[in-house]
Amino acid sequence: MAIRPAAMYLVHFRSRDLSRIHRQGQFWHIFFTHGGVIISQDEVDTWTTHLPVPLDFEQSSMDPRVQIYKVLGGQGPAFEIDVDEILVSSVWRPNNAIADRYCSPGGRAFIAGDAAHQNIPTGGYGMNTGLGDAYDIAWKLAMVLKGVGGATLLDSYENERRPVAIRNVQRAAEHMGVHQHYVEKCLEAGSEVVIGTSAESLAIKEYVKKHVNTHDGENRDSGIEMDYRLQDSPVIVPEAQPSWPEWTPKAYAPSTIPGSRAPHAFLKDGITSIYDLFGKEYTVVDFSKEGSVSRMIWQLAKFEGLPLTLLHLPDEELVRTIWQRDVTLVRPDHFVAWRATPGMVYSKGDLSQVLKQVFGRAPEPRNDKPSSGREAIAFQGVERSFKQDLEKVESLAAFQT
Ligand SMILES: Cc1cc2nc3c(=O)[nH]c(=O)nc-3n(C[C@H](O)[C@H](O)[C@H](O)COP(=O)(O)OP(=O)(O)OC[C@H]3O[C@@H](n4cnc5c(N)ncnc54)[C@H](O)[C@@H]3O)c2cc1C
Repeated sequence: MAIRPAAMYLVHFRSRDLSRIHRQGQFWHIFFTHGGVIISQDEVDTWTTHLPVPLDFEQSSMDPRVQIYKVLGGQGPAFEIDVDEILVSSVWRPNNAIADRYCSPGGRAFIAGDAAHQNIPTGGYGMNTGLGDAYDIAWKLAMVLKGVGGATLLDSYENERRPVAIRNVQRAAEHMGVHQHYVEKCLEAGSEVVIGTSAESLAIKEYVKKHVNTHDGENRDSGIEMDYRLQDSPVIVPEAQPSWPEWTPKAYAPSTIPGSRAPHAFLKDGITSIYDLFGKEYTVVDFSKEGSVSRMIWQLAKFEGLPLTLLHLPDEELVRTIWQRDVTLVRPDHFVAWRATPGMVYSKGDLSQVLKQVFGRAPEPRNDKPSSGREAIAFQGVERSFKQDLEKVESLAAFQT
């Protein structure tokens, strides 16, 4: 089923008419079978309602209060409540989009957030993905401005963040498809059936219940939320044959394979989080008794003036089991940049090369040409609405050239 272009009329308002708003019980979101939605913003008196409207909808043609009553009525008659104050009303368009590049050809300008990617809000990934971008580019810029990070660190921003956005935009569209499926079914069945108590009515209610309980990724996708894997980054030292657990949007598989998020664990005292022991910048974590590899890499970093904290934890068997390896190099954003292969003997030259790569100081050619995955993307299950007027879009930014 394809998601068709549409618009949403939004009303943000205050109401303390809880006996009517909470008629079905307390809620965070209610998705109605006519496509309308209400969101509780503070569980007290602030709410937002959204109503699907045609693309050419004129906001002035509908009083915001009428919109609220229409949303709350679902497929039945309008449901009036006492509204204390209309705070904001506007029309917005759900979009699925990804920028071709995240940085300018000269590598001096970067985009993040909605400027780089947009998704339908189902799943709540938009701002979260944007904050992830901002965090990624911010620590890399800080390293470069301090004079310890090299140019490849900045190049890695796009390699690391763009695949995450593509994955999230696609998944958000799939969540929207879940809602669209039952909305279409219920609109087709008609309000009498949806609201009634006949056998047909009970059957459709049961169908919707089963459908949303089965397709509940919007509330449960810990793979999307936690299992980031930076598999195409020039500042991660890849393993020869990484044994990545199969990725699924539904589950998070903790791992220290370079490119994964370092797994969280409490030390054996039960209260100290390993994250609290990391340095502010890079950290080498060593669970071995002797700690010789970590000491060697720490000394090399010190000599080069690179910020690296040494964390030696020789008596943490349980955390060592979760972390899978004796020696792991963790970045300021808690991603694993490198880990030592068991049984391998490392020379100073080997470890010096590791530091060069993870600080982006290895002499890599600048990433000016589009690499793989930059071909035009058509998100699955989404109907393309209209061609962008590229000339118009470019003229909006003309003042910057
Ligand atoms: C209905 C809805 C629900 C959402 N729910 C969630 C959610 O639950 N979770 C979530 O993570 N995300 C959610 N999002 C997405 C989230 O709101 C956006 O991803 C986020 O606001 C993007 O932030 P941004 O700073 O990148 O862009 P924006 O918020 O768009 O900020 C850009 C700012 O730049 C300003 N600006 C633009 N051009 C110029 C210029 N030339 N000069 C100066 N200023 C300029 C704009 O006025 C704006 O203030 C939702 C979005 C919608 C529409």
